[in-house]
Amino acid sequence: TEHMMQRAEQLHVVGQLAAGIAHEIRNPLTTIKGFTQLLIQDEPNKYLDVVMQEIERVEEIISDLLLLAKPPISTFEEVDMRKILNDTIKLFYSESLLHNIEIIQEIQLTNSIIKGEANKLKQVYINLIKNAIEAMPNGGKVLIKATNVNETVIITEVIDEGIGIPVDRIKRLGEPFYSTKEKGTGLGLMICDQIIKNHRGTFKVHSIENKGTIITIQLPKNMDMGKKNNLPIKRLKRKG
Ligand code: ADP
Ligand code: MG
Repeated sequence: TEHMMQRAEQLHVVGQLAAGIAHEIRNPLTTIKGFTQLLIQDEPNKYLDVVMQEIERVEEIISDLLLLAKPPISTFEEVDMRKILNDTIKLFYSESLLHNIEIIQEIQLTNSIIKGEANKLKQVYINLIKNAIEAMPNGGKVLIKATNVNETVIITEVIDEGIGIPVDRIKRLGEPFYSTKEKGTGLGLMICDQIIKNHRGTFKVHSIENKGTIITIQLPKNMDMGKKNNLPIKRLKRKG
């Protein structure tokens, strides 16, 4: 997983470039979408439905890429991690019903206020919960944990009991566009990693194939204090 972080660092530049291009593609794409919608309104057509679906897919990729382009550390303010987690989990209400998923919260925060950017942090947990749900095609539990380790650090975990990630693939996670999903963009984890880095936190993946995945995030309460105040996370053993 350390390997993953290094990799993400190297590829950060690639991400920036890709995001720039994404921005340029967005405007013509909006036009194409608008006219396609008009065509469908005029005369429903099964081929145009496919065109529309694919336009929506490109839109999704572009919005992921644009997230990478946003400049880091702009509007850090006091945010409530409890609220961020609660709000994010609520977004999955219908999706979890649909997929037979139970999202369980174990929030044990005596002090849940940190310095950060609420929307970015929500984006992180949205991506992680999405991945967790997608890893459990037959349903299952997603556990969201949050604890204060000490005065200065909050640790959150997103735990699923899904398909897991084979060891040889864990190192590829930081690569943009690395996805094992038919409709994946392969950008989610890269975005998460970048947002957490901007908050001076750490991001770790622990996974066992066919057992599940744990994503551990360590966030300093006051990012000015930086990483040195983070407790070292015990490296979890991975079974082969
Ligand atoms: P995407 O979800 O679009 O594929 P991500 O960057 O979110 O892109 O994830 C990259 C890949 O990492 C996924 O395609 C999947 O193979 C793996 N992955 C991420 N999270 C999980 C998880 N919770 N369980 C199993 N595999 C995961
Ligand atoms: Mg994803």
